[in-house]
Amino acid sequence: MPSLASLTSAYARHVVLAIGALAALTTGHAQSLPDPSLPVLTPAWETLSCPVRTAPETGDAASLMAFEQRQRYRDVLGTYLARLPEQVDMALLMPVPSVRVAQIADTYAAARDGGRSHEGQDVFAPRGTPVVSATAGLVYEMSGRFRGGRSVMVLGPGARRYFYTHLEAYAEGLREGQWVEAGTLLGYVGNDGNAATTPPHLHFGVYDFDPTSCRFRAFDPLPLMVDRLPAPDEASR
Ligand SMILES: [Zn+2]
Repeated sequence: MPSLASLTSAYARHVVLAIGALAALTTGHAQSLPDPSLPVLTPAWETLSCPVRTAPETGDAASLMAFEQRQRYRDVLGTYLARLPEQVDMALLMPVPSVRVAQIADTYAAARDGGRSHEGQDVFAPRGTPVVSATAGLVYEMSGRFRGGRSVMVLGPGARRYFYTHLEAYAEGLREGQWVEAGTLLGYVGNDGNAATTPPHLHFGVYDFDPTSCRFRAFDPLPLMVDRLPAPDEASR
């Protein structure tokens, strides 16, 4: 049986590791609130309360910190969603404008390692090619914590989530809480994260929000993707 002293020192090490990891996360990519000047467009979301999720049982510092980081983002989700229009976008601007939608090889739901399926579309382009937002919305998270590595997550109208990953770099000056329009530069094509052994591409994922579980569910964005958005007067007819 381990002595009390060894248990105490193991616990102390765990705490020190946890504090170190927390400092790294908070100084790296702490979540921000949306720009306070933005009006509340969908007040119903302000009172969003998500079911409490339980921390991972394994209890290692890294997974605990990751859990807490996700929780901090969930805590401000309603504040974000309330500042977005209610109506979802019917057309999504091609997020790599130098590539045509017709050039995308449809790989939505294709099998991936670990029994996963491909929850998005890949747009292949040379490293450093600009990536723009497919919709208006709020930059919710900029972080490298995802399987896809360096990523930008935008929340768009109707509580949809747009996920841009494997980025080589973020657009200069882009920050969480910022309003972006369709066509705003988000970053540059790369092969970060689990795309390290594939040619550079943008992974573009789109998710609908389920307010009961507070989870986002992927759907295939390809049928909604367009090379150019219709002019506002066309869209309103
Ligand atoms: Zn992909």
